[in-house]
Formats: sequence, C-alpha cells, structure tokens
Amino acid sequence: MQVLLASEYGFCFGVERAVDMVEKAIGEGKTVRALGPLIHNEQEMQRLAHEGVTTISEPIQITRNETAVIRAHGVTPEVQRELEEKAASVVDATCPFVTRVQKLASRAAAQDRHVVVVGSPDHPEMIGVKGYAPDHAFVIRDESELDQLPKLRDPLVVSQTTIKSKTFFDTAEAVKARADGEVQVVNTICSATRDRQDAARALSGMVDAFYIIGGRHSSNSVKLLAVCKEQCEKSFLIETEAEIDPADLTGVETVGVTAGASTPKWLIDRVVKHLEGLG
Ligand code: SF4
Repeated sequence: MQVLLASEYGFCFGVERAVDMVEKAIGEGKTVRALGPLIHNEQEMQRLAHEGVTTISEPIQITRNETAVIRAHGVTPEVQRELEEKAASVVDATCPFVTRVQKLASRAAAQDRHVVVVGSPDHPEMIGVKGYAPDHAFVIRDESELDQLPKLRDPLVVSQTTIKSKTFFDTAEAVKARADGEVQVVNTICSATRDRQDAARALSGMVDAFYIIGGRHSSNSVKLLAVCKEQCEKSFLIETEAEIDPADLTGVETVGVTAGASTPKWLIDRVVKHLEGLG
C-alpha cells in the first residue's frame, strides 16, 4: 500500500511560530502560561502540558514570576497591557497576519474612519482586532448584517484571516453600495486554510482512501474531510493512528494523508508510519 501526503498539510505558519516561541521560553527555564488554549489539538496540548505549559483564561490569573503567552489569534491592547503589567515577561505569538489586521484597524480608527471586519464576532481574533479600533469597528458575519450598522464613514473593510473569500468580497461590495465617502477594501484572508483544501482536493481523486488527521472540533479539519469526501468516499477524520480500522483498508492500494492546521508533525509522522506498517 502506498501512502501519499498532500502537498500542504499540518501546522500553518502562525501556529508553528507560536509553538516554537513557547518551546524557546521553556528552554530558557521560564514558567509558561498561555492565555487560552495555545492550539486546538488535544495531543499537542498534552505534550506541551508535559513540558510544563499551563493555560489561564483571564490575565488576572498570571503571577509575577510567570511568563504569559499571547497565542496566534492575538488579544486587545488592554489585555496585552494587563499581561505586561502582571507577568515577569510576555511572549507575543500573535500571528503576523493578524497583527496586520490589527494595525490597519488601528490606523483607520485614528483617522476617525469606521472599520468593518467580516468575521465571527465571538472569535478571539475578532475580539482582539475590535480592541484596536474602539468605537469605530463593527464585526459582521456577512452582508446580511450590514443593515444593523449605522451610516458608515469612509470605511475600511478587512476580514478575519480564516473566512471564505466570497463572503468577504460580497460584503465589501455591499459596503461600497451604502457607505458615505471613500471605501477602502483590504483583503486580509490568510491562504493557509485554502492551500490545505486545494492540496487535499488534488490528491483525493488519486487515492482509494484518505485520512485527515485533526481534532473533531477543529473546523478546518472537518472542512478538509468534506473536501476529501467529494472525490474519495473512504475518507476518515482521525485524531490518532489508534482510530484506523484495518478493515477499511481492504483492497486499498493508495492512501492519502493530510492534517489540519493545528496538527503537529510528530503526530502526522506517527500516523504515516502506522499506515506504512499496515501495507
Ligand atoms: S491560519 Fe493564517 S492567520 Fe491564522 S495563525 Fe495560521 S498562518 Fe496565521
């Protein structure tokens, strides 16, 4: 049985960078506490917990001798300040793609322009971005929510980094149709999710079975499963190699493997090795 990996899979740039920064802090002997789960992968969280990384839910929980970690989603300037005041040090692992959105929003607000961010209002990334443009930013899911907003003044339209481009551009067009003054549209979608889906789609037509490694609650992993199923009926979302049923591989000559953006390389390697052993 041949095992083929998709051309793009696993950790995205921002998550890999955040984990590397945490590893570095641990290596320097720091007591590391992340504000919110660093990564949506249970196995990787267990590994990090083993190395001493713990999670807090509020900045108030950090103490003077600890290092606070801001995860890839970023936080509001207030939360960042609070962590800096309370902790011994702060590791800011905000993904640079998210920092870009924060800076754009902050600049527009300083010019007294409105900011429309297309995304999920409850998502931590959106809560952080909104904090950079207080009283100026509105987070909406799509164009249907535009009616709830006041008249927009010279608005900047940006996006959550992980939304669908069609949702973003449709909303931007709707903003143009109803805003006062100049509308500036900046596409801030990160290509990591789309690249993984495109690579999985390309491979799924060439294999007899497909394993997607990722958390059951990881939305990008669930989406990868849907993409693979379009062309490969025997597609399975698994968290570890223990979930592979050898009966599913009867008569299978070629098997594809991909992984969500929060799945670490060591776990992917383990699954691939296991599959090769079955072949
Ligand atoms: S998905 Fe994109 S924006 Fe989000 S952390 Fe990964 S690289 Fe950064």
